[in-house]
Amino acid sequence: MPKYREILKINEQYALDNKKEDSGVKLLLMHFSKMDSADLLLSMDEEMPDKLYQDFLYGVDRYIAKNIPVQHIIGYQDFYGYSFKVNSDVLIPRFETEELLGNILLIYGDIFEAEKIDVVDIGTGSGCLAITLDLEDSNMNVTATDISKEALKVAKQNNKKLGSNVNFLLGDMLEPLKGMKFDILVSNPPYIPNKEFVEDLVIDNEPSLALFGGVDGLDFYRKIIKNAESILNERYIIAFEHAFNKAKELRKIIKKHLKDVEIIQKKDLQGKDRMTFIIKK
Ligand code: GLN
Repeated sequence: MPKYREILKINEQYALDNKKEDSGVKLLLMHFSKMDSADLLLSMDEEMPDKLYQDFLYGVDRYIAKNIPVQHIIGYQDFYGYSFKVNSDVLIPRFETEELLGNILLIYGDIFEAEKIDVVDIGTGSGCLAITLDLEDSNMNVTATDISKEALKVAKQNNKKLGSNVNFLLGDMLEPLKGMKFDILVSNPPYIPNKEFVEDLVIDNEPSLALFGGVDGLDFYRKIIKNAESILNERYIIAFEHAFNKAKELRKIIKKHLKDVEIIQKKDLQGKDRMTFIIKK
């Protein structure tokens, strides 16, 4: 049998030749070999066992030839250090969204003292934001909504698997929250404009419901912003992720509907406008 090093190299090149990420191939090898990258490094000059070789090649074929996301082949995506189950019913959590989460944890202490904080995540998908907030901060009491029953099934499985205690409600945006009050509203709603080009890997495998946000991609922000104060306490934070080219328009919508609020807009690690925080003190 050839060595790990040779097999990995050939298949990484196969990925690159087909405009796929070589890191995807490495993730597949880590998954099928049940090794982390340190163990894998130590095995590079060993011969790859036959069974592993077959499993790995089958995975590589699904990834590169069949155009299936690595996360669907291995069944999970890491988010903020936690492993979230994903399938075609939910958006695969993205790195940018970890930044939204990190920023919420960083700023909320300036607005609220160490007290119990009620948080709601709108359009929770896999549950990555809601569950991680619940796990990272014991002050946070977290509720999450989604319009998709199938997505909520995945989110609830993640809630159980990761030992968090999020309350999940089925329904459109803020609808299932009538009569409830929160201190923090967080959302990474679908934000791709309806007619914008989306690469095959995404459009063929992730739910359209989680991707598209109307003609200009801002429909869900309008819906949330118009009604947000009906479910928020006097002092609040709203934290949004959004498309990199929509920061200005989003600011306009906020100014139109919310009075006496501070608006903070931040870039992601790639230097793109990606997050907006609305703070009412
Ligand atoms: N809130 C989930 C996430 O950030 C789902 C987002 C969505 O489906 N648009 O991954």
